[in-house]
Amino acid sequence: MSIIRGLGEPLVEWRILANDEGADMATSTALALRYGEQKVPRYTSYPTAPHFHELNARTYRQWLEALQGDARLSLYIHIPFCNELCWYCGCATTITQNRTRLDAYTHLLLDEIRLVDRALTERPEVVHLHLGGGTPSAIGGAGLSRVLDALRQVFPFAPNAELALELDPRTVEDALVKTLAAKGFTRASLGVQSFDDRVQKAINRVQPEDVTRATVTRLRAAGIRGLNLDLIYGLPHQTEAICRDDARKSLALAPDRLAVFGYAHVPQMRKHQLLLPEDALPDSLERAAQFEAICEELVDAGYVRIGLDHFARPDDPMALAAEAGTLHRNFQGYTTDPADALIGLGTTAIGSLPQGYAQNHAHMSDYRKAVLAGELPVAKGRPVTVDDLARRRIIELIMCGGAVDLDDVGRELGLDATRLAPNDERLAGLVADGVVTTDGRHYEVPREHWSLLRLAAAAFDTYLDLGADRHSRAV
Ligand code: SF4
Repeated sequence: MSIIRGLGEPLVEWRILANDEGADMATSTALALRYGEQKVPRYTSYPTAPHFHELNARTYRQWLEALQGDARLSLYIHIPFCNELCWYCGCATTITQNRTRLDAYTHLLLDEIRLVDRALTERPEVVHLHLGGGTPSAIGGAGLSRVLDALRQVFPFAPNAELALELDPRTVEDALVKTLAAKGFTRASLGVQSFDDRVQKAINRVQPEDVTRATVTRLRAAGIRGLNLDLIYGLPHQTEAICRDDARKSLALAPDRLAVFGYAHVPQMRKHQLLLPEDALPDSLERAAQFEAICEELVDAGYVRIGLDHFARPDDPMALAAEAGTLHRNFQGYTTDPADALIGLGTTAIGSLPQGYAQNHAHMSDYRKAVLAGELPVAKGRPVTVDDLARRRIIELIMCGGAVDLDDVGRELGLDATRLAPNDERLAGLVADGVVTTDGRHYEVPREHWSLLRLAAAAFDTYLDLGADRHSRAV
């Protein structure tokens, strides 16, 4: 479902330059021209996934063995299948409705859960579970039940644990809703993208408004009350007026949270995007106006803007966490998840343990081979250094709240803050343009420049090669 989950550095392009507090377009345009071509990560991890290298199963097993029982644990399960292909898709997903193939993947997940169980010495409590893809429900209600049951046999779940999954409203039937409710799911993220018929046809994702509305109603009636909607701007035939209408129609469904992503056109990496009418793609200025229009509608309706791309009702835990400075950023984007450790299960899934990151094989054949051989199917990863941890915290604070005080981070982590300096060369232009204000210890991105948060974060990234082609454009 998601265009961002499970891939580490996702293929979501940020060409936005607008803001929600009325910075004038001339300034925004100038900034876009100045910074628009820079390639910067979305910082869902630090170091970011392109800097992962080979990690062997023995090292990962040692990391799992060392996990303490009193840690707070988060689980991410990746289901890399969908019913049909959306032509804008940037995910690594496989299109299939072959039940045998889907059941086989469920079995592999169950085997992987057993392998993780075997590696653990202690079993921390799960505070957060997220199923992403692809389309998690592709393995069916029965498959999801088996995975949930297996996880509950291995791990204790906190009574107030958040159990969330991504859903494609076109594939949500009553039986699935009942299963999700019975298994304790508390939150669902529904992919909407755009309500406009012409846009939907152009992206090969025809999803009538009624279908989305009925799914929302059924989920709420079943007690799954946490609802997120995902919107995309920058799609073929989309206009500012359509985006405004998308926002209004979304608001009519009263979601708790919305994520608003910019479409990334990368046909060199995702060949199926060539099926989209390229000449109907909006240009940078139109994209900016589209994001600004959505932003304006949501903020005017009382939603709080969270970082780059999220919006939440003011009483939602995400808005409260942003206000309190306790918001986090992980592979799912912005999150209230307070976990100390994350275990990823399934192809491409990334875990984050105190010692470092671990990512599973991306190719099904490699994943299957490892699991069937009784080995943890880890392929890549990266141990984290003390400096990485400090810079990760700095980057998280910038991405979540637009500000960081280096002395505070130094105190929090018990290290000398003078070694956490940013790259002056990268920062100088941002400071000159007013995108970052600083007294040398405290760094802040004014709200009107939050669309450029990634650039401010990048100033603290010691691994970044700004010329690298693997990250998306800054604005
Ligand atoms: S094909 Fe569509 S539903 Fe599947 S992951 Fe891609 S965007 Fe989501």
